[in-house]
Amino acid sequence: MQILSEELSCEIDDIVSIELNICDTQPSCLGGANNEFIFSGRLDNLASSYCALRALIDSCGSPSDISSEHAIRMVALFDNEEVGSDSYQGAGAPTMFQAIRRIVGSLAQEYAGESAFERAIRQSFLVSADMAHGVHPNFSEKHEENHRPEMHKGLVIKHNANQRYATSGVTAFLFKEIAKIHNLPTQEFVVRNDMGCGSTIGPILASGVGIRTVDCGIPQLSMHSVREVCGKEDVDIAYKHFKAFYETFSSIDKKLSVDY
Ligand SMILES: [Zn+2]
Repeated sequence: MQILSEELSCEIDDIVSIELNICDTQPSCLGGANNEFIFSGRLDNLASSYCALRALIDSCGSPSDISSEHAIRMVALFDNEEVGSDSYQGAGAPTMFQAIRRIVGSLAQEYAGESAFERAIRQSFLVSADMAHGVHPNFSEKHEENHRPEMHKGLVIKHNANQRYATSGVTAFLFKEIAKIHNLPTQEFVVRNDMGCGSTIGPILASGVGIRTVDCGIPQLSMHSVREVCGKEDVDIAYKHFKAFYETFSSIDKKLSVDY
């Protein structure tokens, strides 16, 4: 408390409450023989958050970029995913549901008729982006033989029959199609069937909001350690993939002509 009060130039008694996080103060850096890796704390999941936010901003760079857009582009970033998301500010809270309802309400009150909100949800698509476990050369047997995500090979599409990931055949196809059109690589992941599977906010939002969802992520090593590692190239690929998603989802979804 003494250190905190000195940092804040106040008396200890002036500190009424704290939420204190201890973190590595070394800045992130590039490394590897060709500077091909990023070494950083909290890549999981700031890397996805950064790519999503940057892609959203850049996809709306000029008014002409969105003049023909009929959909609404959003990014939603949640706290507490690592502890299960059941919190005031986590994905288990109704925040996203309410935000969509309020946006639709403010835009559609006059002319969209009844159930505009429900129809908007049906036409929506969620990219649930969280980091993926890349194959580690010393522990490659931890991965299913044909599903070993490698660094520098693009976003990992995550599948799980027990719905620990929310990806379906339809959502995986649509998301991969966007990559294909833009010449971006993707890779697919299923966990070894004799091992437990991680999860993401994908199934929470898919089931809570009722929205088509794909789970994907940048492959990395040393997830959850103080210093994590991912490929520099993959951040660029993820950014381009997300940006392409924002820019082309509406037109590609229309071509699928599935009546939701
Ligand atoms: Zn994590």
